[in-house]
Amino acid sequence: MKFLQEIEEILTREDISAPEQRMQVFARLAAEPDRGTSAALECLLRTDSRRIAAYLTQYFEFIPGAVEEKTRAADRLRREPRLLSAVSRLVPWLPEAMIDELVSDYLAHGDSVPALSDVVFVVGKYFPERLRPFAERIDDEYVRRALLSGAPDGKAESFLEDWRRSGDLRALIALAYIRTERARELIRSVRGEVEDSAQWETLIELAGQLPDTGKPAGSWPAFRGFVSGRGEGPHVVGGPPGGEVPVCHVCEAPAARLLKLSARSLPYGFVNDPVFYWYSCDCGIMDSITVRVGTGGMHVFYGPKGSGDPSASITPGELSLVLERHPNQTGISLREMPGNAGHQVGGLPAWRDPDIHPRCPDCGNSMPYAATMDCGRTPFGDMKYDGIIYCFWCDGCRVSSTQIQH
Ligand SMILES: [Zn+2]
Ligand SMILES: [Zn+2]
Repeated sequence: MKFLQEIEEILTREDISAPEQRMQVFARLAAEPDRGTSAALECLLRTDSRRIAAYLTQYFEFIPGAVEEKTRAADRLRREPRLLSAVSRLVPWLPEAMIDELVSDYLAHGDSVPALSDVVFVVGKYFPERLRPFAERIDDEYVRRALLSGAPDGKAESFLEDWRRSGDLRALIALAYIRTERARELIRSVRGEVEDSAQWETLIELAGQLPDTGKPAGSWPAFRGFVSGRGEGPHVVGGPPGGEVPVCHVCEAPAARLLKLSARSLPYGFVNDPVFYWYSCDCGIMDSITVRVGTGGMHVFYGPKGSGDPSASITPGELSLVLERHPNQTGISLREMPGNAGHQVGGLPAWRDPDIHPRCPDCGNSMPYAATMDCGRTPFGDMKYDGIIYCFWCDGCRVSSTQIQH
């Protein structure tokens, strides 16, 4: 009770703006010994305020684990029509039985309860297989797009027929987004028929295979990443760049380190630690950085380099990334929005717009996808860039390439 009162007091303060109030609520929770999970749960079991339910479930979204607290919170919120939409943020952690109940509620009430549509949309994104048996009863365009992920072979074949009949490339993109062995086989079969070879490369990579080597376009398992305190996870977010870094072509501001993955903490067989950089200025002219990192210093491809500057940070301080197994190992088939995509390591990219993978300038092969770093809020403050940064890594050559989409 004490905690709920404190939060209500923060939210009635007139001397600070609503975003500042939210940051204060998050900071208050983060200061608790269990990162505020029991306090957030206590409030979610009692509050009648939509705003408090929204903020506290947003906070829960930042925290890996705490499955029991998130499940108990969702079980209460889903019985309160005014608070139901807040459940959508907890969906990735909910047990299958509760997911199935939410799906049957949606099927029973249809689109007359918009909050249930929101929840089911997120179910489709993370657990498409729970929703697929009812696909014919769902005519929401976005939910249908979510269900491309892992769709059955018959569906894959019908997209190929659509494309042959209409020539509409969107049918091939939908086919590639299915990302099953059959989908890859069908995309391989149209090599030479797709006029633009870069377009075909984009499609086969989207489906999960590299065009030249035939190797997987990503690594498995896929993980969701959670920005956590310094040292809490083995992977470093931000932190001092050390030595030389790429610099902005326009203003010469040094790039900052975005992410350093720990090879031995990942089950991917990487020999070298992947490191990714991004620009610290607002020029916005460049949309990629490609570097070779190694003990002998850094080589910057396609641009100038200069001395790293620890104050040119693009993250709210040196932090870490804690990983949690992604509920959708096939890959999300929805178009992601910056600030809403979340961070990811491994698997296949959840694209804003499907794009061709960069080529490694050393070995000439297409680079496998390694990670996504999204912009937006963290429990420690905002990321200082806009857009979704996709990170690619050629382990043998120690070459990293980052690309942004807005
Ligand atoms: Zn610049
Ligand atoms: Zn290479």
